[in-house]
Amino acid sequence: MASGVIVVAEARDGKVRKMTLELLWLGKKMTEDLGGSTSVCLIGKGSEGMAAGLGRFGAEKVYVCDADVVDAYSPDAYAAAVAACVRVADPELVLVGATARGKDMAPRAAVKLGTGLASDCVDVSVIGGKIVCRRPVYSGKCYAVTEAVAVPAMAAVRPNTYPTAEEKGTSCDVIKVDSTITAAKAKVRELVKVGGEKVILTEADVIVSGGRGMKSAENFMKLEPLADVLGAAIGASRAAVDSGFADVSQQVGQTGKVVNPSLYIALGISGAIQHFAGMRTSKVLVAVNKDEEAPIFQKADYGIVGDLFDVLPLMEDEIKKMMEE
Ligand SMILES: Cc1cc2nc3c(=O)[nH]c(=O)nc-3n(C[C@H](O)[C@H](O)[C@H](O)COP(=O)(O)OP(=O)(O)OC[C@H]3O[C@@H](n4cnc5c(N)ncnc54)[C@H](O)[C@@H]3O)c2cc1C
Repeated sequence: MASGVIVVAEARDGKVRKMTLELLWLGKKMTEDLGGSTSVCLIGKGSEGMAAGLGRFGAEKVYVCDADVVDAYSPDAYAAAVAACVRVADPELVLVGATARGKDMAPRAAVKLGTGLASDCVDVSVIGGKIVCRRPVYSGKCYAVTEAVAVPAMAAVRPNTYPTAEEKGTSCDVIKVDSTITAAKAKVRELVKVGGEKVILTEADVIVSGGRGMKSAENFMKLEPLADVLGAAIGASRAAVDSGFADVSQQVGQTGKVVNPSLYIALGISGAIQHFAGMRTSKVLVAVNKDEEAPIFQKADYGIVGDLFDVLPLMEDEIKKMMEE
């Protein structure tokens, strides 16, 4: 009988991503209510070396598929490998990150497993013995609450929703799983990094974001010192991207990325509904705008009415001082 939780890990450059540790935290919490063990599914050529390390973060078993076919990410091969691991592990719940890769792979894996998927969840819990997921709909204007009826249940969780699992120094069993797929339909020939982001936008705990009010690409670069002091990623409104101030990979919103930081600092952004669709769940919103009627102030926790080119250096200096204290 199906039991426990399996977390689908994501790794880049030989390192497990923060999202995986957030899912492990949630997985441990869910197994307290559901029973069974918390395991991890790790896909990718050469990933076996990383498997044992996951025991330190609470994984009891790690199912590894490191066949040649999963050397580079491809949706069909990864989905098949995840499905193979899930069939062996037989969990009650599969947790995936609602990251670019998770969003691409998870629906395919759900089809292979003949189950449903709750996408972009901001809460996954057990209520009355049922797995219940809460997810924003209609650009975040309301929430849908879904109850899983299929086994295994599958949920894609928004990054930065949960804390990361603590390092506790335990070991885990590593189980090798063979994927039945031998050739991927799509082959990745080259990976091109764009934007040169120091901090991954969708995983960032702090985001400094600029809008049309930044006025030029040159001015947009003035956000960098503040972002560096805060260890933040740099985001942008669509108007800033369309005006050529920022790269499209930095766009936050309905047609850009969905972010979920602890702190979102918006400079020269009016607060259009389509921008909110991508950052509404930010825990604290700080807005700087010269127009006191700007819609962003209706949602901001802290608002500064003023010219951003005056406010930005003052903010940077004050935050630098605070960090040094
Ligand atoms: C289908 C669709 C999808 C969309 N998807 C997205 C999306 O994913 N993301 C997104 O962001 N938008 C999206 N948009 C666009 C959205 O509707 C807005 O046009 C956009 O968000 C506006 O960007 P902005 O706030 O930077 O620009 P504006 O609305 O022009 O606001 C600029 C702000 O800067 C302020 N300002 C100007 N100069 C200064 C200064 N010196 N100091 C301080 N403040 C200053 C102004 O007062 C103003 O409030 C979408 C639109 C559609 C129709």
